[in-house]
Amino acid sequence: MKLTIAGCWGAYPPANEATSAYLLEKDGFRLLIDCGSGAISQIQNFVDLSELDALIVSHYHHDHKADIGCLQYNMFLQRIGGLRSSAFPIYGHCKEPEQFSALNYMNYTEGREITAHTSVVIGPWTVTFCETNHPAYCLAMRFDDGERTFVYTADTHWTDDMVRFCSDCDLLLSECSVYDHDVSVSSGHLTPELAGKLAQQSRARQLIITHLPHYGAHEEILERVTAIYSGPAQLAAKGSVIYFA
Ligand SMILES: [Zn+2]
Repeated sequence: MKLTIAGCWGAYPPANEATSAYLLEKDGFRLLIDCGSGAISQIQNFVDLSELDALIVSHYHHDHKADIGCLQYNMFLQRIGGLRSSAFPIYGHCKEPEQFSALNYMNYTEGREITAHTSVVIGPWTVTFCETNHPAYCLAMRFDDGERTFVYTADTHWTDDMVRFCSDCDLLLSECSVYDHDVSVSSGHLTPELAGKLAQQSRARQLIITHLPHYGAHEEILERVTAIYSGPAQLAAKGSVIYFA
């Protein structure tokens, strides 16, 4: 498996960056995970949009789905340009029916339901889900290719279920949106202490911290995380590529 970080910011993108956008690849299958603000621009540094096979969206906050509309326009242009012959699949949950319905764009994109209780096969992966602790209904994702596992927490505050969901994964992409001292604004998100605890208690073999805040020193986040988590850890950055096979 190969993971490329195309966008790693919470809330909004700084200049020339993107919010949540990750490219997961295996055996030529290219899956975009979340499609936040700036994602469509940034992802083209790593893949041609005509080569994308599917999109999966964790939840419908803007920093995870803002660019879906522009991706749909691209899919329309791909179709009339002869680059694509069938509807592009966009996986998302149905807890907000209007948002799910908007994943369909004429016959150019097609919404496909994901739920916390069922698995789905997307390309080479069996994907399972876990409801997170977040103001909007949100699903964490676990990708299993039969050899390795990758878990993306999406947006969440601490839950014991998440520890079980992440157990023994080869790579954990965990959000960390606030600092440990920001208790007042931490609702729905992990602090460095909690992200480190999640990785340590779940025995994740490798950790990447993402959904980064727009203030403070990010090095502090990594220092705090690695004081708790004993495995290899790094901060997400645009263009980072992680191979795990
Ligand atoms: Zn969110």
